Amino acid sequence: MKSTNESVSEVPQKAKGRVKIPRQPMPEQDPRRRRTNFEEVPRGYSEEVAMLEASRCIQCKKPGCVQGCPVNINIPAFIKEIAEGRFVQALGKLKEYTALPAVCGRVCPQESQCESRCILGKKGEPVAIGRLERFAADYARQNNGVPENRHASPTGKKIAVVGAGPAGITVAGELVSRGHEVVMYEALHLAGGVLMYGIPQFRLPKEIVQYEINSLKNQGVTIHTDYVIGKSETVDQLLAMGFDAVFIGTGAGLPSFLGIEGENATGVFSANEFLTRANLMRAIDFPRFATSPVQAHRAVTVGGGNVAMDAARTALRMGAESTIVYRRSREEMPARGEEIHHAEEEGVNFHLLTNPVRIVTDENNQVTGVECLQMELGEPDSSGRRRPVPVEGSEFIVPADTVIIAIGNKPNPLVPQTSPEIQTSKWGTILANEETMMTSKPGVFAAGDIVSGAATVISAMGQGKIAAGAIHSYLSK
Ligand SMILES: Cc1cc2nc3c(=O)[nH]c(=O)nc-3n(C[C@H](O)[C@H](O)[C@H](O)COP(=O)(O)OP(=O)(O)OC[C@H]3O[C@@H](n4cnc5c(N)ncnc54)[C@H](O)[C@@H]3O)c2cc1C
Ligand code: SF4
Repeated sequence: MKSTNESVSEVPQKAKGRVKIPRQPMPEQDPRRRRTNFEEVPRGYSEEVAMLEASRCIQCKKPGCVQGCPVNINIPAFIKEIAEGRFVQALGKLKEYTALPAVCGRVCPQESQCESRCILGKKGEPVAIGRLERFAADYARQNNGVPENRHASPTGKKIAVVGAGPAGITVAGELVSRGHEVVMYEALHLAGGVLMYGIPQFRLPKEIVQYEINSLKNQGVTIHTDYVIGKSETVDQLLAMGFDAVFIGTGAGLPSFLGIEGENATGVFSANEFLTRANLMRAIDFPRFATSPVQAHRAVTVGGGNVAMDAARTALRMGAESTIVYRRSREEMPARGEEIHHAEEEGVNFHLLTNPVRIVTDENNQVTGVECLQMELGEPDSSGRRRPVPVEGSEFIVPADTVIIAIGNKPNPLVPQTSPEIQTSKWGTILANEETMMTSKPGVFAAGDIVSGAATVISAMGQGKIAAGAIHSYLSK
């Protein structure tokens, strides 16, 4: 394990010289090869490249990158550790702010957060903060160099955490390290939330998520899987069972649909169902796993976000000719630029400015295509994006045997529905105090997508951290 500065004496030490070093590219699997496998696409930095990239950071006194990070990670501090070859210490700095740096380094939209505020981006390319975060976490995990977890003496207080996604994981980790007893309840058969069932293996290897879950268990967190709160016990019953506080992190897993003719046909999936079958139920490993495979030869995915890219790239890897249908232009796609670029490189077809109006079926109600209308861009709408307007008489059919709807997710309704004292917004999100994440029911806290609506991993973790601090104060009173 590296702990001292041993190499890169070549690196110019003056800030002026350092900014001339180009941003180090990420090695990636070749697109022709990777479209046929589920291995991770970016390969990660080597130690030498990570140190070189880290040496580009000029250690700003007022670092814009920190302000751009939703959890205000001390970015220059962890980068300095890498630049000087102290990789495990770099992870230690990261862990002060984020429970899942190996995950965040892979899936956070750094280009619109920390990296968009990096001073080097003003005249050239920003420091590759996300790649360095991933490097530090991977290095420590692969070299058994993970920093010790904090331990406090038992407080005798007991907390139920409902939902084992990024919000729940953060809360469980924070509370167990403060000496509280934590019991998690997860509806699915594996903990991890979207990190397990949604984001595909080629973007986020599942071993990394399970490593973090095991680390929680090793710290003493009990995790009950296949346990649906609202069907088994309600939140009120958890409190009656002796829990001193309850945290709700049940996410936004309720898919939205288009509401068009033919949407109930065989072969139409929500992206959630499609990705859950592929990832969590291992349909990608058929016949080794007995999950019925999705027999997609021509898959059409509707949507332009990260979820749509994940579904289309998964369908491609399962052997389908894969097409994305999106009603606006490429510039308006909400997916990360990197994900769109990867999808294009791998050969996903894009029908842009195209709006689906009907799912076409045969006499057995099996999908045979998607009828679409060509669109053109009109005036900006309330979101500031130019509104797509249909071109009259432009109907055409995209042939398909599988249609994947990826147009957004809403909050999971079960827990609020079975806990009448917990107030919700008109969108179904749980209302929580921004400073404490406490809901309208005393002792019950909530964070992540169930509060904010479908958002990001880091925002769920940031809110989870606030909730954990507030639960600790609440229990200490
Ligand atoms: C396909 C996909 C790709 C994405 N890509 C990115 C990305 O690249 N970058 C990014 O930052 N964000 C991405 N996101 C969004 C991100 O994953 C979420 O914002 C984040 O996971 C929210 O965390 P959470 O803990 O609030 O909820 P979730 O991750 O949804 O976890 C909630 C958990 O609660 C469980 N649960 C629900 N109801 C109950 C119940 N009644 N009882 C017990 N358990 C219950 C669920 O099974 C789930 O495990 C993506 C989302 C999807 C769907
Ligand atoms: S803004 Fe860029 S150069 Fe400055 S501290 Fe942050 S990462 Fe380093």
